[in-house]
Amino acid sequence: MNALKPKGNFVRDIIDEDLRAGKNQGRVQTRFPPEPNGYLHIGHAKSICLNFGLAADYNGNCNLRFDDTNPETEEVDYVRSIKEDIRWLGFDWEEREFYASDYFEKLYAFAEDLVRKGLAYVCDLSAEEVTEHRGTLTKPGKESPYRNRPIEENLGLFRRMRAGEFPDGSKTLRAKIDMAHPNLLMRDPILYRIRRAHHYRRGDAWCIYATYDWAHGQSDSIEGITHSICTLEFEVHRPLYDWFLVNLGIHRPQQIEFARLNLSHAVLSKRKLLELVRDKYVSGWDDPRMPTISGLRRRGFTPSSIRRFCDEVGVAKANSIVDMALLEHCIREELNKIAPRAMAVLRPLKVVILNYPEGQVEDLECVNNPEDAAMGTRKVPFSREIYIERDDFLENPPKKFFRLSPGREVRLRYAYFITCVEVKKDSATGEIAEIHCTYDPATRGGDSPDGRSPKATVHWVSAAHAVPGEVRLYDTLFTKRDPGEVEEGADWKSNLNPKSLEVLRDSKLEPFLKKAEPGDQFQFERLGYFSVDLKNSSADRPVFNRTVTLRDTWARITKAGKENE
Ligand code: ATP
Ligand code: MG
Repeated sequence: MNALKPKGNFVRDIIDEDLRAGKNQGRVQTRFPPEPNGYLHIGHAKSICLNFGLAADYNGNCNLRFDDTNPETEEVDYVRSIKEDIRWLGFDWEEREFYASDYFEKLYAFAEDLVRKGLAYVCDLSAEEVTEHRGTLTKPGKESPYRNRPIEENLGLFRRMRAGEFPDGSKTLRAKIDMAHPNLLMRDPILYRIRRAHHYRRGDAWCIYATYDWAHGQSDSIEGITHSICTLEFEVHRPLYDWFLVNLGIHRPQQIEFARLNLSHAVLSKRKLLELVRDKYVSGWDDPRMPTISGLRRRGFTPSSIRRFCDEVGVAKANSIVDMALLEHCIREELNKIAPRAMAVLRPLKVVILNYPEGQVEDLECVNNPEDAAMGTRKVPFSREIYIERDDFLENPPKKFFRLSPGREVRLRYAYFITCVEVKKDSATGEIAEIHCTYDPATRGGDSPDGRSPKATVHWVSAAHAVPGEVRLYDTLFTKRDPGEVEEGADWKSNLNPKSLEVLRDSKLEPFLKKAEPGDQFQFERLGYFSVDLKNSSADRPVFNRTVTLRDTWARITKAGKENE
């Protein structure tokens, strides 16, 4: 899928207005600022598409900046995975790979500058006392007794904080703003804490660490960002973002907030995703049920399907939950056009065709993709013993069941009509062991010269030629549309779907699938779109993940005119 024509949105309106007003010398510079404390998820994809997309549309640049100011939770593997995922999505930060941790010295100098201006002070209150002093939305805060320390004393103490002369948590550096400010974030916010923690990039060079609010805006400014796009929950931080930059007298980017993406039946919080990984509710960050980029990739989503999804969702100012069906719709439409068709029997039931010559093998012609004639045809071997889906046979069929049952004729896709003449059971268990059928040689290719047409067509795989494989079927990770909605006293994990994964170890695949490579994608006729697993697949034992079923609930919703709920 090629670049889509950009849709209008309020962020673009702001940028257009800035360009008209001649702001920033006509430059557009955005950034994507992940904290390397987890893998990226579909919500991040939205931010990536927005930031890199705007830069591309306005002939600007988008920086990748690791917002790595928090030493405790960050890791090199997260940095690696984040870069891999952004590249895979199709975006390029070129040489502009930045780290907030490279700005520690500059951020420190900015802080000294505020101290010198009498706008920051060293405070000895403990964390609890700071909270107590803060007040509430209805009650003004109380000033810290250390608030009016002379500038020189503050400067000396701040330098000694950095030099490691004080124990962890014993002092903070705070901005001197207004303890009665209606916005609680403006009540003398903390800029630095003392924390002897090892930083994955800076080692033990620092024992004071900047807060998010202090680091973020100044990092934006250092990079000459023009439009700092973030999610709605940062709207209340904007006055503080501006206050720092105005009082430092440095370049002031425009912070713009948009609604974060929420996806139905999924959680998009790194803290929660980490908990799922750490406590082994899933196999890892890239478990195909995870809403992470790496999980979606392993599941069989393509970069273009994710970009299209982000485009369909659009950029809004109001939070909402986007239906998972839209994401599935995007990949389904794409795979419908590009995925070769194949036959695979997930839960095999043996069928013996009694009147078919023993030892005979016919190569039957099958269409590779009815949506794309250029993809041609392939030959599929047919023989006396085949597998069909267990679900496609019922010994005592109810009224509306038209597939195989005793005495009933069905069409085998691309092959022949067969009629069930006998059901063979396991004498010990009473379970159906195999089905005996006869075939009509006049129906080769799936058409009858006398014009009769069975009500059902089923897929099949020749038993002698079948490739054994494993197939993994997925359902949503959570049963509730909003997994955060829980019974009193229960945990969000109580909404995990116990049936989110079904592993079928004895599936029978069409012979050519033996050559499928990790990442290859197919439509298994009647069953959905499947992708060869990137991790656990091997040549003698392919493992397929079902990316998505064939049923498009989103198309049905939109057809009914109930768009976007
Ligand atoms: P999480 O809630 O998953 O921990 P975060 O905001 O803490 O997310 P960051 O690494 O700080 O994670 O996010 C990097 C960028 O991605 C930020 O600009 C953030 O606003 C954006 N982002 C994160 N989650 C979403 C989301 N669900 N929808 C849109 N943008 C998001
Ligand atoms: Mg964040």
